Amino acid sequence: MRILVTGAAGFLGSHLCDRLLSDGHSVVGMDNFITGSPDNLAHLGGHPNFKFIRHDVSNFIFVPGKLDAVMHFASPASPNPNSPFGYLNLPIQTMKAGALGTHNTLGIARTYNSRFLLASTSEIYGDPLEHPQREDYWGHVDPIGPRSVYDEAKRFAEALTMAYHRFHGVDTRIVRIFNTYGPRMHIDDGRVVPNFLQQALQNEPLTVYGDGSQTRSFCYVDDLIDGIYRLLLSDEHQPVNIGNPVETTILEFAHTINNLTGNQAGVVFKPKQRGSGDPQRRQPDISRALEVLSWQPEVSLDDGLTKTIQYFKEKLGLE
Ligand code: NAD
Ligand code: UDP
Repeated sequence: MRILVTGAAGFLGSHLCDRLLSDGHSVVGMDNFITGSPDNLAHLGGHPNFKFIRHDVSNFIFVPGKLDAVMHFASPASPNPNSPFGYLNLPIQTMKAGALGTHNTLGIARTYNSRFLLASTSEIYGDPLEHPQREDYWGHVDPIGPRSVYDEAKRFAEALTMAYHRFHGVDTRIVRIFNTYGPRMHIDDGRVVPNFLQQALQNEPLTVYGDGSQTRSFCYVDDLIDGIYRLLLSDEHQPVNIGNPVETTILEFAHTINNLTGNQAGVVFKPKQRGSGDPQRRQPDISRALEVLSWQPEVSLDDGLTKTIQYFKEKLGLE
């Protein structure tokens, strides 16, 4: 297949490009580097099956030559208000990437009669009242809360994707991605994994927001990309959760990272970030992925973190 990947220079997009290329596909990567980096694609320079277009997906997209699939990953993704890469500091760009970017990428998929896959998010469940979250849960989102710029853009993106599927017959798929970590996360991205690893590797206490009782379920990037690839090849049009169901409190997670890195500095509790709309619990129900994609995660938290620690050590110049 010849596949357009938007957000190709980001954390997930760059791993997706690698996987598609290694399976023999041809990839057109698109990105405007708002939160991603050319470094994530540097190893693909000169690859015969890889082409890159620098472009903002919020503007009309033109890609010469037929495409067999369009995978829309372009969007800021970090909720941290202190990070320059956080969507709270890029609110309009985030809404445009989710709304106009999804419209433009669906348009190009329709033009070329190609498959379309939307990178949606567990955030469409908001601060969930049902636990774990199944795909038929409608969510609990504040439409004007701080996270709404991301959550509502993704909810709009899902609705638009289903409208193109139902009205125009576009062959669509929707993946709801839960917290994912691994090499190529931006070190200053502000999400919990880069924050904790950066602090741990510099022998500083880990900043736990609130009392650390909030939970997340962390999926290693290779597992996630494998689930997404299976979804692309499937005929499933309903949204599918992809994530690791092993749930941990943020405080437990901090202790795990301190143990793995040998950091003696412990943790420091910080107030929950004001107005961050930080969900209290999050855990995917992955029965649909298991049933329709025969997918479940394989990489343990310890193994995934060990690989990620190696990457951050190199980035920090510690190796
Ligand atoms: P990232 O910030 O590393 O990557 C996003 C990429 O999109 C960046 O390279 C950025 O420059 C690019 N981009 C943003 N707006 C753009 C625009 N208007 N035009 C062109 N390029 C643009 O983030 P990520 O973690 O790799 O997230 C990728 C996708 O996966 C996002 O859509 C995000 O919502 C979704 N997602 C990620 C997670 C996760 O845990 N990483 C969880 C849920 C959903
Ligand atoms: N968090 C934390 N310390 C940090 C960064 C994040 O305690 O330095 C917490 C944050 O409050 C949230 C969880 O870790 O409860 C996950 O945050 P992240 O920014 O990774 O993404 P989210 O899952 O909230 O979208």
